[in-house]
Amino acid sequence: MSGAPPSVVRGLWRTRWRHPADCDPAGVSDSVHPLLPASTPLLRGDDGTVQVGGVDSTDGLLLDPVPGLPRLLRALDGRRSQRAVRAEAARDGLDPGLVDTALEALRSAGLLTDLDAADLLATGAGPAASARAVVELPSATGAPRSAVWRNRGLCSVVVEGATRVGTPLAAVLAASGIGRVVVRDTGLVRAADAVVGGLTTGDEGRPRSMAAADAIRRASPLTDLRPLPAGVAPDLTVLTRPWAASDPLTVDGGGAHLVATVRGETGVVGPLVVPGATSCLRCADLHRRDADARWPRLAAQLVAAEPPPSGSTLTCLLTALLAAGQVLAYLDDAGAPLTLDATVELRPPDLLPRVRHWPPHPSCRCGAADPAGGTDAAPPGAADPVQGTMVPERAHRLTGHDTAPSPADADEEDV
Ligand SMILES: [Zn+2]
Repeated sequence: MSGAPPSVVRGLWRTRWRHPADCDPAGVSDSVHPLLPASTPLLRGDDGTVQVGGVDSTDGLLLDPVPGLPRLLRALDGRRSQRAVRAEAARDGLDPGLVDTALEALRSAGLLTDLDAADLLATGAGPAASARAVVELPSATGAPRSAVWRNRGLCSVVVEGATRVGTPLAAVLAASGIGRVVVRDTGLVRAADAVVGGLTTGDEGRPRSMAAADAIRRASPLTDLRPLPAGVAPDLTVLTRPWAASDPLTVDGGGAHLVATVRGETGVVGPLVVPGATSCLRCADLHRRDADARWPRLAAQLVAAEPPPSGSTLTCLLTALLAAGQVLAYLDDAGAPLTLDATVELRPPDLLPRVRHWPPHPSCRCGAADPAGGTDAAPPGAADPVQGTMVPERAHRLTGHDTAPSPADADEEDV
């Protein structure tokens, strides 16, 4: 068997949507650990061919009838290197070259995920944890061989506020592999704090931080819930209370942080603040002041007392999930998150995301503004195109505290 690779691929069909794990086959080595998710259909045709994937909007592959090949594909659980898979195939009488051809075709179709050995080690905390990780892993390993799962396990996230957004968000992050998730809250659970995936109706009267820890354990029993040692900053802090007076984390030299909350009935995610690099909450405050000189007086009233729980279950969970996606995009280093210099709002009844841009303010001391004073500074992510599913809208009017004045028109590009 030399020369051209063995033929096994009868057909390949593409959809317009491409899997982010697509990679250059020339860069794949024998040491990769191929994973074909157990949920990927292997469907037999009348003529013995095997269709891999190809349902819904995924690419598909049609393979020639080869005895033993379907069983080999079904056994691709990410725990054996491609070299080991080839060796095992040879022992079973399969042509290793044919196996290589099939795997490359699967890879090219985005059906195969190559796990990093470090990712595999990170899933080995017992059979139950491993089983949970297996269903999370395929979507977490977008960049080939980048050990995203292992890295998530090393990350710590602090959620400030066991709110109707904060608690389910913390649980989602834990279930998504974040190794340490700490919810800070000194209050007691109120009846209206209960939400699907978060605090329960039976938690009423309990300390909110303890009830939130239980919510995380229900989703991910092995997540580290211990408070961080004094002086140790988390990789990211999520602020889930409706309003922050300004940006204490930036002022104090703290780390990256993200706003994820519901104000009135509107879910708000962002900005994601990388101190010194992107606009901060004080930048946004200054923009609001520019638009309305009364803003400082209004803001003082907004932060004076803890508002009652608000937001429908649907709004709160959508907000939490959108925020979780931004947290993971940042921690995975998977490209510029949408909420750098921007907020995404979810307003009933349609709850479609609308983006508002909040550029660095030239008067802010955070250092994110262009030192030359120009207005065309391009912080990370600011110029990225936004998903076409979002609905254009402009909101020039002041409609209440939960839709505060926007920055200058040029900076507001709700989409
Ligand atoms: Zn600033």
